[in-house]
Amino acid sequence: MPLVVQKYGGSSVHDAAAIKRVAARIVATKKAGNDVVVAVSAMGDTTDELIDLANAVTSAPHPREMDILLTAGERISMAILAMAIRELGVGAQSFTGPQAGVITTAHHGSARIIDVAPSRVQKAVADGDVAIVAGFQGVNVDNQDVTTLGRGGSDTTAVALAAALGADVCEIYTDVDGVFSADPRIVPAARKLDRVSYEEMLDFAASGAKVLMPRCVEYARRYNVPIHVRSSFSYLEGTWVVADQEEGDTMEEPIIAGVASDRSEAKITVIGVPDVPGSAARLFEAVANSGANIDMIVQNVSATATGVTDISFTLPTGSVDAAHLAIEEDRDAIGYEKLVVDDTIGKISLIGAGMKSSSGVSAKFFAALRDSGINIEMISTSDIRISVVTRSEALDDAVRAVHTAFGLDSSDGEAVVYGGTGR
Ligand code: ASP
Ligand code: MG
Repeated sequence: MPLVVQKYGGSSVHDAAAIKRVAARIVATKKAGNDVVVAVSAMGDTTDELIDLANAVTSAPHPREMDILLTAGERISMAILAMAIRELGVGAQSFTGPQAGVITTAHHGSARIIDVAPSRVQKAVADGDVAIVAGFQGVNVDNQDVTTLGRGGSDTTAVALAAALGADVCEIYTDVDGVFSADPRIVPAARKLDRVSYEEMLDFAASGAKVLMPRCVEYARRYNVPIHVRSSFSYLEGTWVVADQEEGDTMEEPIIAGVASDRSEAKITVIGVPDVPGSAARLFEAVANSGANIDMIVQNVSATATGVTDISFTLPTGSVDAAHLAIEEDRDAIGYEKLVVDDTIGKISLIGAGMKSSSGVSAKFFAALRDSGINIEMISTSDIRISVVTRSEALDDAVRAVHTAFGLDSSDGEAVVYGGTGR
């Protein structure tokens, strides 16, 4: 029998009626002749509400207790979903992450999956039941404490289960019809992509598209798990995330897959850094020790007269305070003059595997920005992506201009956004 792993996000299970709808869909999949394993997220905004609750009693929630608290969200939805499936006459058993054998590193709040030993899940499936697994959680390999995988981590749970169980497909159900050429909330004419490679999807995810978490895509690529991203509100075919086409494949690939945008980063500029070997190392060691994950870096040429330069970099807004403090603490050793934080930036990224082998892509991209009067503050590229930092308020215009310039606007009507937050 084919084995299907399905993941339902928070907006697909936000209340009892939604859970009943999801249960019916799972039962239909089962009755169509598949074995079904489900990973489920917490209902609606439960995770955010639990975080607020913790913050209401302490300014520094203990990481171990925070993880136990947050995993409760997924445990509620898994049990309710199992009950709703049973109500439809099909057997169902729910399992917490630890019960499902999701073994992780020790990092509370951002643990990584080391291994999945899903014997209880396999047993449930062999018994003819649907297995429901609480997403976003696992167990610390060293001390059996409960861990969480980071926001949006249920996607990773689903892909890891699919890999460990040798599933035929991992279906990720969300509140949009698939992966779009741009955020449909910004570009109503965005088109649904039928197929995107793991590499392109990784760049989409890392560039601000919230439809899949980057770590889940990395995992899928490593274990070659085909992902089908689709809506739980329709039966339309969604987007397949799969390995890149074989060399020699005759099908013409589009050069550009789409445009991603991100407002979640800030920019720190360190002014007057001595232009001598070791300055950047010292600066970024301080930043790394603060736990911040940096994205783009730009260093200006130094004026020969002064022998100093400016270094700018971007990082998640939530990491700015810690990074700022760490740099200030190391001020004497780095020897800079001034530090400026700017949290009103936006990042636009153009993504497409085909840009590897075609010329003129950057020229067209920059021309589209120029024609809309958008100023470029930073640029970074990879072989399949060009990213630019702009003012936050110019970002939506930039996305629409670039989307149109590359001929990505769809002619068959507006993309449907069924609700929620894009998750
Ligand atoms: N409930 C968790 C979150 O909101 C995990 C997930 O939804 O995937 O981040
Ligand atoms: Mg969620």
